Amino acid sequence: MQTDLAVQEVIKRFGDFTAVDNVSFDVKQGEFFSILGPSGCGKTTLLRMIAGFNNPDSGGLYIRGKNMNGLPPNKRPVNLVFQHLALFPMMNVAENIAFGLKRRNEKPAAIKRKVEDVLERVHLPGYGDKRVEQLSGGQRQRIAIARCLVLEPTLLLLDEPLGALDLKLREQMKVELKTLQAEVGTTFIYITHDQSEALVMSDNVAVMNQGSFEQIGTPQDLYHRPATPFVAGFVGDNNRWSGRLTDSSGTQGTITTDEGPVFRSKTMDAYSSGTSVDLFLRPEAMLIQPDASLSHLNRFKADVKAVLFDGANSRLLTHPVGSSREILVALPQNGQFDHIKSGDTIDIGWDEGSGI
Ligand code: ADP
Ligand code: MG
Repeated sequence: MQTDLAVQEVIKRFGDFTAVDNVSFDVKQGEFFSILGPSGCGKTTLLRMIAGFNNPDSGGLYIRGKNMNGLPPNKRPVNLVFQHLALFPMMNVAENIAFGLKRRNEKPAAIKRKVEDVLERVHLPGYGDKRVEQLSGGQRQRIAIARCLVLEPTLLLLDEPLGALDLKLREQMKVELKTLQAEVGTTFIYITHDQSEALVMSDNVAVMNQGSFEQIGTPQDLYHRPATPFVAGFVGDNNRWSGRLTDSSGTQGTITTDEGPVFRSKTMDAYSSGTSVDLFLRPEAMLIQPDASLSHLNRFKADVKAVLFDGANSRLLTHPVGSSREILVALPQNGQFDHIKSGDTIDIGWDEGSGI
């Protein structure tokens, strides 16, 4: 696959403040690529440089190998999807889609044909005469995307487009947008602070923090093999124990946590004794009332503070006995532990190999 976008060592400063700090990445043709990070980390600044609204202080931006340096936004083969996917309410669907083509002074016959073609592509043929308020939320999103696709951009840039929607609609739109992108095959660069959006929709995700990329990888890489403590803490829920490696022999280490418990872990072989470590444990790695005969488990007792029932994503909020720190424990879906109530004391175990 050819590379649609190459970003090389891009830096952007505002006065003394470095908003984008030496960022490099490639996006391949047809990819759904997300940039995920907390508010203020520099996502929009980076996207605006790709679109041409800002210029980097140093570094290069290439689209299909062509240097974008100094090219104004209207000369770049990109489209920025309006935030919240807003459509012009006084125009019908066809007029909304035709807007950019008219600005390019295309001929009416060509515009008509392109509008019809793109409506077919987003599975809304014959919708040209409808008014915006006659459309459902999902249809509006499709039209907003169609309005960009009709201009045949190499890259579609989307800056938190689902941010203003309510939770239920957002869940539905996530799936719709992902499906639509896969069908039309246009390269998407999608910005979000919402890790579940990024995980569900993307082929690859860059995790951004304070202007820099912490890791680029598939959703599975980020979740199962986080490269930095920031990624481990930001992508998915994680329980974190800070401590010191007090013994490391072969592939096995002993971690003495700052709060007292001593754990064994199999992931410590790269470090020497005395090193400060952060141990991350997913809620689903925590076993409730584990069988006493199971070896290779670390164990501790915990008080249940709350049962957070949420269907498939139910958890227990617990405190290790004698500690005020919170440990999230996933509840299995088979109802086996439905009897656990807040105030109970339970045994928790985790496999030496499951820490990250
Ligand atoms: P994000 O989109 O990740 O929330 P932004 O890219 O909008 O973050 O902003 C990154 C940082 O750069 C923020 O601290 C913001 O205040 C700062 N910033 C953005 N634009 C400007 C500007 N034009 N002038 C000064 N500071 C800016
Ligand atoms: Mg932003």
